[in-house]
Amino acid sequence: MPPDFSKKTVDTIAKRAGFRCSNPDCGAATVGPNSQSDKATTIGEAAHISGARPNAPRFDEAKTDTVRSAITNGIWLCRNCQKLIDADASRYSIELLLIWRERHEKKILRELGTETDRIQAELDSERIEQFSQYPAIIRRIAIDKPDGWEFTLTAELFRHLTKQDFQKLKDLESGMYNTIGEHVYDESALEWLNQRIREMSTMVAPAEKLLERLSNSWGMPGEPGNMDEIHHTCVLLQRWIHQIVEYEERVHATLVSDDYIECKSVVTGILALQALKLENIPETLEAMLEQAIKHSESNPNETLKLSHEVVFELPQNWDKRVRGVIKSLEKGMAPPLPDDNTTTFSSVLGWIALGTILFVFIF
Ligand SMILES: [Zn+2]
Repeated sequence: MPPDFSKKTVDTIAKRAGFRCSNPDCGAATVGPNSQSDKATTIGEAAHISGARPNAPRFDEAKTDTVRSAITNGIWLCRNCQKLIDADASRYSIELLLIWRERHEKKILRELGTETDRIQAELDSERIEQFSQYPAIIRRIAIDKPDGWEFTLTAELFRHLTKQDFQKLKDLESGMYNTIGEHVYDESALEWLNQRIREMSTMVAPAEKLLERLSNSWGMPGEPGNMDEIHHTCVLLQRWIHQIVEYEERVHATLVSDDYIECKSVVTGILALQALKLENIPETLEAMLEQAIKHSESNPNETLKLSHEVVFELPQNWDKRVRGVIKSLEKGMAPPLPDDNTTTFSSVLGWIALGTILFVFIF
């Protein structure tokens, strides 16, 4: 699929703008009579908000052509304003243009039809209210609902909601920030370690259910997804990741005597590694949607089922390492230092039931 808008998309963008320029400082009419009595003059264009091709203003190389050519990426402008936004891409940012379009469409709506039409439109926009604190692209997707909106909405929501927590996890792991926490005395080390292991095992469990719930929220083939459910599940996933951030912050900040360092390091960073496996969900979903749309163009009546695996696993020999530490602590001795600090992974199942979870994408 090329990144250009289809004729139908251009038409819808123009109509939704009431054929008026969406720049709030302009608002020029873009259609009118022509000198030839059987023709009309159009001076408006459906401009790409994020550029369609490399080197175009506001081009985002991380996006797919499906996203670039979707109605969510278009804005109706007069020719002058189109030149204006392309001449200064940093002043006329993606977010600014999305807000122009949003406000312009609201204005057109207020002037439209009867009072009943306006009441109906207000009722529709109440569902969008839940996204009022989010970036404008999220509301845009929820209003326009382009093909596969369930996946682009999830991608943008997940990206926005989890960005800070993923950054924090990476900063913690690379030692970019730390706080001072409780001091664990040698004689309490065993109890402390057991508590952390119990916490870790409790925290892994919800992820599987949440990803399954997310898959279900997208709906069955041919049926629309459930917007409220997609939103709610993304919020729950964010809370799950946030809990892991809190856990990791706590263990990173814990102070133990030098001989007991191994006791802390066996329970540090393991959950963060699992949570970070979800970081690429938005890009994965957008790539899957691209694949699904290409597939549906050549096989219009076929359902495509794609799945993505997230494998939660423990570091190699992790359980052996933990058993060794616990054994020493039970004898009242400092834990031995690890033989090797290997960080390669295998699917060892330890005391914490980690496993493979899937999310399934049906289009
Ligand atoms: Zn204009």
